[in-house]
Amino acid sequence: MTAPKNGTFLQNVERMVAKTVQYLDLPPGWAEEIQAPDTTIKVQFPVEMDDGSWKTFTGWRCTHSEHRLPAKGGIRYASIVNEDEVEALAALMTYKCALVNVPYGGSKGGLRLNPREHSEGELERITRRFAQALINKGFIGPSDNVPAPDMGTGEREMAWIVDTYQMLRPEDINYLGCVTGKPVDMGGVRGRTEATGRGVMYVIREFFRNRDDVARTGLTGDLAGKKIVVQGLGNVGYHAAKFLAEDDARIIVVIEWDGAIINEDGIDIEALREWINVHGGVKGFPGGTYHEEGTRFLTYPCDILIPAALEGQITLANAADIQAKLVVEAANGPITYEADRVLLERGIMVIPDFFANAGGVTVSYFEWIKNLSHIRFGRMQRRLDEFRAKAIVDAIEAATGKEIESKLKHRIMQGSDELSMVRSGLDDTMREAYQEIKQTFHENAGIEDFRTAALVVSMKKIANTHKRIGL
Ligand code: NAD
Repeated sequence: MTAPKNGTFLQNVERMVAKTVQYLDLPPGWAEEIQAPDTTIKVQFPVEMDDGSWKTFTGWRCTHSEHRLPAKGGIRYASIVNEDEVEALAALMTYKCALVNVPYGGSKGGLRLNPREHSEGELERITRRFAQALINKGFIGPSDNVPAPDMGTGEREMAWIVDTYQMLRPEDINYLGCVTGKPVDMGGVRGRTEATGRGVMYVIREFFRNRDDVARTGLTGDLAGKKIVVQGLGNVGYHAAKFLAEDDARIIVVIEWDGAIINEDGIDIEALREWINVHGGVKGFPGGTYHEEGTRFLTYPCDILIPAALEGQITLANAADIQAKLVVEAANGPITYEADRVLLERGIMVIPDFFANAGGVTVSYFEWIKNLSHIRFGRMQRRLDEFRAKAIVDAIEAATGKEIESKLKHRIMQGSDELSMVRSGLDDTMREAYQEIKQTFHENAGIEDFRTAALVVSMKKIANTHKRIGL
């Protein structure tokens, strides 16, 4: 493969690591070992198409690091998938898990195909064959390697994978933990589908709580009324846009594969998503102006830019023209290394991918724990919480002789159910990680950006594990 002008995705990740190593006190050779992908397998397999013909598919799965097990990372379906991309994404998973204290190594998988070109039946046969190949080679299992959804895959594909695993390993009582992002009625956890987008929203909320960071970007006030451009209205982009709009932010541009929709008054995200579901793209959507050249709108004037589609979108070709004051990398690798330097020089703050989109793996971790413990979160304690809260409310009412307003009483007495516990755990994780990054950023005079600070936090944790167990 010839390297693109801005370097390959993996080269960009490696350059980011090289820039960070000076802030770590690592023994010689350790940085290289932490950075190098452990194992990458390539599988090729034939599948019968609906018309009776046979087609051979190519997929990869990389285990970047097994310093903690299982290794964790999504499976992507896209026509551009290649080995370099899978290894880069697996490396980002290692740093992401360490950053948000999810006890996993990093992994990633990819299958080269365009899901839009296949029927549901074909996709099921393809997914089952891919899963079978990975399971047989030890690249899927609850204790060693646990995939999840990524671009082009979702609950449906995860359900096929878990079913394939159960058929091949019927003796494994923990089979549900072999993959996360499953439908709730097949061992999934409530709140997983929305988790990455919700995590993006929690990160932006936390940013606005930190007034010094807000001031550094030149932004003022809070999230309400902020103009946001989102690239990609898939799982991550849609949920991020939806929750940010619920917080009164204004989504003024949505960029999709077939063009962009612009509406300065704010785009109705639900209506646009519905339109895409029916028509396959944004073209013709009546709630805004359509432009065919979508990518051009990454440089549209706005407060916050959220790339939530593909890697390599902000490059030397457009970095100098980005007008947002804050860029939140909901996608993996949307800014190339060189473009990142340009944004830094221009004073544009970037919240890096392996933090901004860590909500997905965080809630995947909750799902995996649920699968291993074989019990839904809150099942044992919800009614107990309610019983105790009712006793306190009764005591207060008896002591004061006044009745607490019924809406407030209901809020106080509501026990924790699975969804509220998942959201609480996710919010806490994102806020804690933000503060860890910020502390490292302030403690090291030489560190200029949150990306380097976040990587210092991650690599220190990984190195600490290696200090205990060896390289
Ligand atoms: P998805 O397949 O659900 O959505 C991707 C969206 O991008 C689709 O709507 C697609 O039409 C659009 N798109 C494709 N090409 C485009 C282009 N050239 N310009 C604009 N839009 C384009 O995928 P997703 O799960 O939302 O993943 C998006 C990004 O987020 C990826 O980088 C992925 O690795 C990352 N991510 C996803 C998760 C997750 O939980 N799904 C977790 C962490 C990171």
